[in-house]
Amino acid sequence: MTTSNHHDHLIASARSARGFMPDDEGYALFEAALAAGSAPAAQPAVLLEVGSWCGKSATYLGAAALETGATVISVDHHHGSEENQAGWDYFEADLVDPTDGRLNTLPHFQRQIASAGLEGVVVGVVGHSPAVAAWWRTPLSFLFIDGGHGEEPAWADFRGWTPHLVVGGILAIHDVFENPADGGRPPYDLYCHATQSGDYTEVNACGSLRVLKKLR
Ligand code: SAH
Ligand code: MG
Repeated sequence: MTTSNHHDHLIASARSARGFMPDDEGYALFEAALAAGSAPAAQPAVLLEVGSWCGKSATYLGAAALETGATVISVDHHHGSEENQAGWDYFEADLVDPTDGRLNTLPHFQRQIASAGLEGVVVGVVGHSPAVAAWWRTPLSFLFIDGGHGEEPAWADFRGWTPHLVVGGILAIHDVFENPADGGRPPYDLYCHATQSGDYTEVNACGSLRVLKKLR
């Protein structure tokens, strides 16, 4: 496959993957990761996402990483967020593991990354985000926060992971809704905090995706 065919194949794979990311936002995520991975000071770049689900955003990130020689770390406990559980809006019954009755997206994530041909580029880490962040030591060129959207998990992700982001690195946040009628507050609160602190400046926005650059 030529590079551009490969690119098209990966973007098509990401688009058809199961998950929660409109095509235009996914492409904006890809472009942000491409820019972060190309920054000469940050080679070899490590890109990290919180919230793998079934590997959709990880495929966009993996497509970018493949082009720049970066590696993607995708963190998830794979049991779903609050809104994915039975009785909530984003419950999908076929994701329940019949042996224990719990949601388990890990096999879906593995199949997606394998079918995209990204097993050498995307590394899944299974665990609670704060437990992984606690022992993490590698500087990150790019951080994508798309894990638990409740107040506690969202702020834990921000506090646990942003210290690892290098100055000049990219912080992307998903499900940022200015209007409370469109979605929950915590991702928007993180975005407001980051930009108002003066530590980050906004470089792109697409749908509910916000792309910020770390200034200090
Ligand atoms: N990025 C995905 C969607 C992520 S959905 C896509 O492109 O489709 C949010 C994910 O965050 C769920 O899979 C859930 O299991 C995970 N999650 C929620 N809270 C978490 C936590 N504290 N630690 C690890 N994963 C968490
Ligand atoms: Mg999301």
